[in-house]
Amino acid sequence: MVYNELRKDYLLNRWVVIATERSRRPTDFAKQKAESAQNSFCPLCVGNEHMTPPAVLLYLKQNGEIKKDKDHNGQRPKNWLVRVIPNLYPAFAPPKEQADQAQIMKSENFGCAIGHHEVLVESPNHDEDPVNAELPQLMHVVNAYIDRLRELSAKPYVKYVSIFRNYGKEAGASLSHAHSQIIATPTVPRIVEEEQAASKNFYDQHQKCVFCDIIEKETKSPRLVLDNAHFVVFAPYASVNPLEFWILPKKHDTNILSLTQTEIKAFAETLKTSLKALKDLVNDPPYNYGFHLTLNREAENYYHWHVEVYPRLSIWAGFEKNTGMYINTVTPETAATELRKAIRA
Ligand SMILES: [Zn+2]
Ligand SMILES: [Zn+2]
Ligand SMILES: [Zn+2]
Repeated sequence: MVYNELRKDYLLNRWVVIATERSRRPTDFAKQKAESAQNSFCPLCVGNEHMTPPAVLLYLKQNGEIKKDKDHNGQRPKNWLVRVIPNLYPAFAPPKEQADQAQIMKSENFGCAIGHHEVLVESPNHDEDPVNAELPQLMHVVNAYIDRLRELSAKPYVKYVSIFRNYGKEAGASLSHAHSQIIATPTVPRIVEEEQAASKNFYDQHQKCVFCDIIEKETKSPRLVLDNAHFVVFAPYASVNPLEFWILPKKHDTNILSLTQTEIKAFAETLKTSLKALKDLVNDPPYNYGFHLTLNREAENYYHWHVEVYPRLSIWAGFEKNTGMYINTVTPETAATELRKAIRA
């Protein structure tokens, strides 16, 4: 009798059944694309700027140069390359009065959802997601992530900034225009907090960053997808999602604030290449990606920023929702092999 494998995440107390016994080929997940509603009105397209709140950050194209600005005095310039606007229906809203900042948590289990919720429009071109975008445009997007992270993380009531991208309706994207979201929260979310606590533990025991250790091991493992001068991409050992992959910088750092333009370019290239492999392999699937980082200076030695990409290929049902334990029918080793092949193709 051969058993399925039970694997534990590198850091989280999260278990996944790698269903080798009823494993599926990644290409089994390729679906016929549903016809997207092409003609529906898009509030994020050029010309419709007045439909959105004023931009808090604009990258404007001006005489061949990039000028950073924001919307003011009711003006809405149209020559933008990247546009960051407050979400019309924010999950977290800015404090209205100074007093609201002082005490966000009113008791142990009650507080006000104070923070920021922004939409980062990645391109004036409706369909220009990272796979289609030219490298300079994708670098603008990453630079804008960094600009927003810098501004939002400086606010005293902000404890975490989540930068993420939902792609495709099934992955939660309600607007089809290429965009990311940024949510600044007054507490550190559970998964990042657990990663931090576990990586601190590892550091205390081994005087070494656990993520640097993971990079060392996974670059030599069958789960490696891509390895270049600045980044590694691999399918994590206990992947919860079929074809999940993570992008880690080789340079140890807690967040993206001090990336150089060379590193930003390398990151944009790495992101584009790996998302293109996913797109080619399973016919443009929906996905979510998000940054894990920390703003905590004390975590300097033990935390290491990274991006986790979760393709939406299977539906989590009763067991997963009910238990927090997962079943993945594509082994991470198979996922990596297929993604590597797609990159070479
Ligand atoms: Zn649009
Ligand atoms: Zn590290
Ligand atoms: Zn993580």
